[in-house]
Amino acid sequence: MGIVICCASLLVAVATVVASADQELTLSRDGQSEYVIVIPTEATPVEQTAARELREHLAQVTGATLPVVSAGKSANDKPRIVLGDGPLTRELLPGFEPAKLSPDAVVIKTVGRDLILAGHPRRGTLYAVYTFLEDTVGIRWWTASETHVPKQPTLRVPPLDVAYAPKVADRATRYLETSDGCFTNHSLVTEDEQRTMGVFSARLRLNGHDHYSIPDEYGGPNGLIGWVHTFYQINGLLPVEKYFDQHPEWYSLVKGERRKQYSQLCLTNAEMREEMVRVVKERIRANPGATMISISQNDWQGYCECESCQALDEREGSHAGTLIHFINAVAQEVEKEFPDILIETLAYQYTRKPPLHVRPRHNVVIRLCSIECSFVETLAEGKDEANVAFREDMEAWSRISPQLYIWDYVTNFREYLAPHPNFHVLAPNLRYFVRHGAIGIFEQGDSGCRVGDFVRLRAWYLAHLLWNPDADEQRLLDEFTDGYYGPAGPYVRQILGAMSEAGCRAGIPIRCFMSDTRGWLTLNDMNRVMKLFEQAAAAVADDPVLAQRVRRERLTLDHVWLQRWDTLRGEARRTGVEFMGPEAPEAALVEFRELLEKHRVGEYRQGHRMPADFGSEFPFFLRKRIPPAEPPEPCRGRAQEDWLDLQEADYIPRTEANSYRIEKDEAASNGFTRRMPNTHHIWACHSYPLGDYGVTDGSRWRVCLQVRCDANTDEGTAMTVGVYDDAERRSIVSKSIPVAQIRGKEYRLIDLGVHPLGSLAYAWAAPVVREPAEVEAVYVDRVFMLREK
Ligand SMILES: [Zn+2]
Repeated sequence: MGIVICCASLLVAVATVVASADQELTLSRDGQSEYVIVIPTEATPVEQTAARELREHLAQVTGATLPVVSAGKSANDKPRIVLGDGPLTRELLPGFEPAKLSPDAVVIKTVGRDLILAGHPRRGTLYAVYTFLEDTVGIRWWTASETHVPKQPTLRVPPLDVAYAPKVADRATRYLETSDGCFTNHSLVTEDEQRTMGVFSARLRLNGHDHYSIPDEYGGPNGLIGWVHTFYQINGLLPVEKYFDQHPEWYSLVKGERRKQYSQLCLTNAEMREEMVRVVKERIRANPGATMISISQNDWQGYCECESCQALDEREGSHAGTLIHFINAVAQEVEKEFPDILIETLAYQYTRKPPLHVRPRHNVVIRLCSIECSFVETLAEGKDEANVAFREDMEAWSRISPQLYIWDYVTNFREYLAPHPNFHVLAPNLRYFVRHGAIGIFEQGDSGCRVGDFVRLRAWYLAHLLWNPDADEQRLLDEFTDGYYGPAGPYVRQILGAMSEAGCRAGIPIRCFMSDTRGWLTLNDMNRVMKLFEQAAAAVADDPVLAQRVRRERLTLDHVWLQRWDTLRGEARRTGVEFMGPEAPEAALVEFRELLEKHRVGEYRQGHRMPADFGSEFPFFLRKRIPPAEPPEPCRGRAQEDWLDLQEADYIPRTEANSYRIEKDEAASNGFTRRMPNTHHIWACHSYPLGDYGVTDGSRWRVCLQVRCDANTDEGTAMTVGVYDDAERRSIVSKSIPVAQIRGKEYRLIDLGVHPLGSLAYAWAAPVVREPAEVEAVYVDRVFMLREK
C-alpha cells in the first residue's frame, strides 16, 4: 500500500527516553482498550463519520469499543486518538493549519501515547482514518459488500508520521461497485446499493463527480455542474428545443445548413456567447457547492463550418481553435462573479488536437479523452498510430494547459462480458497522465455490469493507484488477488498475465469498442486460461465463498467458448489441438444464463441489458435451428476447403434496434434470410472474420452474394455490399447495388470479383436509407466465396 512512512528521527528522539517496547502504541490488549476517540467539540458531520468508522472498525478488529468523546470532556489521563481539527490537535501539532493543506491531504501522527488523525477540512480526517485502518491496521475493503477484517485483540501501532496529499485531486472509477454513472437512470441498483456504493467509494478515497452517491457526511463528491456533452445533448446549456427556432444561427452550419439535430454550437456567434454566459452564471448560482462547470461539445461530430468558425479553426490548425477562444471568453466573464469556479471542456475526437496559438485561461480545465487508442500497449510508448497521435496531443495540451483532466477508457464497452487484455497498461497509463500534469482522472469501466472481466479487482486496483500513483502495482495486484481469491490468487494473476500476453502477441490494436475476441484470443490461449481457471477452482474447492468468486470470474471465458463454439470446436478437430470448451454447448448456455441471473449481471454491453434469450444468436444455436443449404452452383464439385458459404449463423449479432431480422423465405437457399429495412445504412450483415473459416492472409478468393429487395420503384440504389479488412483498416471492395438489379422475390447473384484476402477480412452488406414507399427492405440469402488458385 506503501504511503505510511515511519519517521526515523522521531523514533531516535523517543528511543533515548523510553524502552523500545513502548515506542509503539498499544491500542488494545486482549480485547480491552484504554483509549478514547476525541473529536472536536463542534465536530463536522464528516469528522463524526470518521469517528464512527474508526470506532466500528476497531471494534471488529480488537473486540474493544472505544468511547467517542468531545474535546472538552477528554480525560487527560487516558491515551487518545485525536480526530480532526480541534484545540487538542493544534496543541499536539503546533503549526497545524488544515485550511492550508491540499484538498484531501491526510495527517497521521503519533505524539507520545496519542495518535492524531486529521487533514484537509473537507475530507482529510475521514481519509486519515481510512488510510490508518488500511495501511496500519490491515482492514481491506475489497468490494462494496466484502471486507477483510484482521482479528487482533492486541493491536500495536508503530510510531507514525504521515503527511500525504494525493497528486490526483479528482479521482473516479466507474465500475458498478463504486458508481453506476452520474447521469444514468440508476435502475440497475437499489437505493441501498447506491448508498453502499457511495460509502465504498469514500473508503477507496474516490471523490470524482461520477461518485454522486457518496453521502455528504462521507465528504460527498466534487461538485461539477453538467458533467459532459452539455452544449445541448445532456443537461444542455442551450437546448435546441428552446432556442433553435428563434436563433438557428447559434448552431452549427453543416453542409450549408444550420442543423438542429446532431450539431454543435456556432462558437464564433457573439449573441450566443452572451446567452451562454448568462445561462452558465445562472447554473452556478443554483449549485452553490460546485467547483466546476462543464461547457462541452455533444457526443457526435457536427462542428460549425460557417465562414468565421472555419477561418478561426484554420488559423488555429484545429477545431479546438474556435472551442478554446469561445471557452476563454466565457471563462473571463464568469470569473468576474465566480473567481473560484473552473470551466471545463472536452478535448475529444474532432477537438482533441490542441490549437496552435490560443492558450486555455487559468480558470479553464481541458478534459482530454483517450477513446481512439489501443489499450494493449501503453499510451507512453505504444506504436499504434492512435496512441502516437494521442501522445502528441497529450504532450502539447500539457504544455499549454494550466490543468488537465483525463477521461480514460478501461473496458470493452461493446462486450463487458469478454476478457479485455489491458490489465498491464492500467498503471503505466495512469502514471503517464500524472506525469503530464493531470489533476483529475476518470477511469470509465463496466458501469453497468456485475460480471465483467475481474471488475471488482479493477475497481479496487485503479482506486488505489488514483490515490497513490506511485504505489507498487504488483504489490497491489498480489494483495487483492491473494486477499480476495485466497489460494486461487496466484492462478488469477496468471490468468490476467495470459490474457495480456495473448493480446500483445496478436499484434492488433485492442480498442474500447471490440465486437469480439476473435482477432486476438486463440484456441491455445483459451485452453491455457481454462486450465488456469480449473486450477484456481481446485485450489478453493473447500471454500464455498472463494469458489463462487472464482466461478463468477470465469463467466467471461465461458462467454467466449459459447460465442465462438463452432469455429473453436472445428479448429480443434482440424488441427488436433485439445478443446477445453463445453462438449454440450446448449447445456452450457443454460448454466451460463442461470449464473448471469444469479449474479444479477445488469448490462452485457454499454446501454444494453441482458435479454432473456441471450445467446440465441450464437452461431451454434442458430445452426441447430437453421438447416444448411445446398452448395452454391459454382461451388459444386469443388474440394471443401476451396469454397465457403456464409449463412445466417455466420454474421455477427447486432444490437441496433430494428437493424435486421432473420426470417423464413422460401426463395432463400436454406429457407432463411437476413432482412434489413431501408431505414438505416448500418452494416447489419457483417460476417465473422474470414480467418475463422480457414482464409489465410493473401489467399485469393472470388466473393459473391445472393440478394434481393422489396421495392415499388426501379430507381436508385437499394444497398451497398463489400469486403473490409480489419487488419489493414481498409475496404478491399465495395459496390452499390441498384434497385433495378435486385428487385423482386428472386435472389440475384452479385459478383464482387477476385481479391487477395486476409484472416481479419469480413464480408458485409447494408441497406441505404430510402422512403418506405419506394424501397422497403433488402435481403441477404448468402455470401459465398471460391478460392482462386
Ligand atoms: Zn460558426
